[in-house]
Amino acid sequence: MQRLAILGSTGSIGTQALEVVQANPSLFRVEVLSAHSNSKLVIEQARAFKPSVVVITDETKYKEVKDALLMLQIKVLSGEQALVEAVQSDAVDIVVAAIVGFAGLRSTLAAVDAGKRVALANKETLVVAGEIVMKRAAEKNAAIIPVDSEHSAIFQCLVGEQPETIEKVILTASGGPFLGRKPNYLVNVKASHALQHPNWSMGAKISIDSATLMNKGLEMIEAKWMFNLTNEQVDVIVHPQSIIHSMVQFTDGSVKAQMGLPDMKLPIQYALAYPQRIPNTFKRVDFKEHSKLSFEPVDYKTFRNLSIAREAMERGGNAPCVLNAANEVMVTAFLQNRVGFLEMSDMIEKTLQSVSFIEHPQLEDCISSDIEAREIATEFVKKSQLSMY
Ligand code: NDP
Ligand code: MG
Repeated sequence: MQRLAILGSTGSIGTQALEVVQANPSLFRVEVLSAHSNSKLVIEQARAFKPSVVVITDETKYKEVKDALLMLQIKVLSGEQALVEAVQSDAVDIVVAAIVGFAGLRSTLAAVDAGKRVALANKETLVVAGEIVMKRAAEKNAAIIPVDSEHSAIFQCLVGEQPETIEKVILTASGGPFLGRKPNYLVNVKASHALQHPNWSMGAKISIDSATLMNKGLEMIEAKWMFNLTNEQVDVIVHPQSIIHSMVQFTDGSVKAQMGLPDMKLPIQYALAYPQRIPNTFKRVDFKEHSKLSFEPVDYKTFRNLSIAREAMERGGNAPCVLNAANEVMVTAFLQNRVGFLEMSDMIEKTLQSVSFIEHPQLEDCISSDIEAREIATEFVKKSQLSMY
């Protein structure tokens, strides 16, 4: 029986992780649930899964959750420090890191420091501080198992292989809702449209990142650190059907791909059960229905976020951290209709040019670069035409 802490339990990944637990009660038990603001849902989840601890990081929701769970003898805590302590508890074996954005960094690192198995959905952690996180994981013997479908695919392709035989990894990108569109169309698109992903149903932030292709940029950086690759070993190809979740090309020219229908429960379940495979009843791929798997190059000129992310990856140092912070500010502003779709790339690029470069950032530098980048990016947002009216 593996005991789980599910961080971000009220989100898209968190709720699907709970579905996997529910389907396998003899294998997994929920020990800790964490939510930020969705008190109603986390109360419902706590009643159903009876964890020992619930952490609600938004302190204004603490009393409501505490009162609701009083009779169930569930310990309710609030704040980020409580979250750190909860994931480090001896009663936890696996931490599902499914908080969105930079906000997930501290708790993910805490899990790594405590030598837990981390089922990592929170890709931003590796973008912000990949080198630090992976080094600590090696020191503390903490296994980081990817939840992100592309990285799960690569991880699965690498089972039984020697790392030095990797020639390159090829991340597949669906292309998002605006595949094939050009700047003259994108200039006017709104959040409601960008949120409509053709193949996946996800949280708001990653949905916008998928529409701008920043998601693939973040994933390149995530792959670099997770699999200890050089920049040249990370490639991207558009594959609109999202059946091949990613590929590994080896030094003998052989290519392995992992396939399946787009369903995040699959990589979540794999990360929880690894090295086992648990049987399930998820819908199978019917290749008669998916008779055409196609590939095309990325339009880097239109989807500039991906080129900007690649440049940040190549520049290294604190550049990916700045990229991430600026992007988080832009996504929030775009969702509020305060910046335009194409403006996001301009402002991320300008933020990267404005924040002081640190070649070998320590954790404190990542935190201060994040703050500095957010302040600068916020100033750019205020100057947008959309923010002014
Ligand atoms: P959601 O927006 O659906 O959920 C985010 C979760 O994080 C919620 O539980 C939310 O709590 C919590 N949260 C938000 N802000 C904070 C904060 N400041 N402190 C603590 N908790 C916070 O996101 P997703 O589930 O879509 O994504 C989660 C992570 O997984 C992201 O890093 C994403 O890139 C990654 N991922 C997601 C995929 C998907 O299919 N959704 C696929 C691959 C990776 P509340 O709602 O209670 O406020
Ligand atoms: Mg992904």
